[in-house]
Amino acid sequence: MDGSPMKSHEIIIVPEAEIAGLMTPEAAFDAVEAIFGAMARKDAYNFPVIREAIGHADALYGFKSGFDRAGGALGLKSGGYWPGNEAKGLTNHQSTVILFDRDTGRPKAMVGGNLLTALRTAAASAVSIKHLARADSKVLGMIGAGHQSAFQMRAALAQRPFEKVIGWNYHPEMLSRLEAVATEAGLPFEAVDLDRLGAEADVIISITSSFDAILHDAQVTAGTHVACMGTDTKGKQEVEAALVARATVFTDEIAQSTTIGEAQHAIASGLITEAAITEIGAVINGTHPGRTSAEEVTLFDGTGVGLQDLAVAEAVVDLALKTGVATRVPF
Ligand code: NAD
Repeated sequence: MDGSPMKSHEIIIVPEAEIAGLMTPEAAFDAVEAIFGAMARKDAYNFPVIREAIGHADALYGFKSGFDRAGGALGLKSGGYWPGNEAKGLTNHQSTVILFDRDTGRPKAMVGGNLLTALRTAAASAVSIKHLARADSKVLGMIGAGHQSAFQMRAALAQRPFEKVIGWNYHPEMLSRLEAVATEAGLPFEAVDLDRLGAEADVIISITSSFDAILHDAQVTAGTHVACMGTDTKGKQEVEAALVARATVFTDEIAQSTTIGEAQHAIASGLITEAAITEIGAVINGTHPGRTSAEEVTLFDGTGVGLQDLAVAEAVVDLALKTGVATRVPF
């Protein structure tokens, strides 16, 4: 291990166990904000996603890949979901990022992708809050209390001077996770029903594995920013399609939003067309104004794109090289 620049005959390995010590939510935010901007400028693009039930161990396996012409990232995140892993003491969700040299096609790095997935997903909703939530937002509403929710909350709390967190979860016994993160941030937490959550929250993040609308249009007050982060597969749904139709809709990538994201239902039922959806990168780049009034409901459909993974993995490799943590293997 040393801190010298990478050599052409070696591959850098950054194991999962090293990611927590290298990557910060702030660095993930910067990487994700930059890649969303590059996507909207058409400097970076994602390739079609592959996801297959492999007929073994009940596993879903696939990969997300892309190329960032501006930043240079080329590669893929591969992995999926192995439901039997927990019984073996392993995480059910497994992912690994492989980066390639864009000039030669040689493999450049292999990076543990589990923690990075949580950080890049949290960074996406935080980017949407930065660019779309009202500046005077004070109450954060959380729907969902699973693994991702703590990361989502921590990243969101950095974007506005929130004074309180309220939360709802399908499995109420899991809400202690949200309370713990609020306490860690020095904020009060209250478990509420969905009517109160919609009425009181200035910013709402949904991060569940639901297949039915949880939050309904009538429950959401004017001026709210909603970040729908759980819907990343055909059939999943977290909010009523009428809410998507009422809101000004932003997303990471339109092709995913209309097919596997929260907007799929509003599109399928003809409530909106693709033309109503804007890439968040356009707001980041200043080519779309974003929120234009304090009454507008804004909605971010965060579907999760491969370029987010590549962007944070590139950042980790840079940090690993700078700090001398990188394991170099001749290849
Ligand atoms: P988890 O299994 O740890 O938690 C699941 C959450 O969904 C819990 O809050 C649980 O109570 C809730 N839930 C389960 N069944 C429900 C139902 N029938 N109705 C309503 N809520 C229900 O999962 P996680 O790792 O926290 O991931 C949450 C979701 O986020 C998943 O759907 C996952 O696929 C998605 N995800 C999206 C991205 C992205 O980039 N958009 C990235 C990672 C994960």
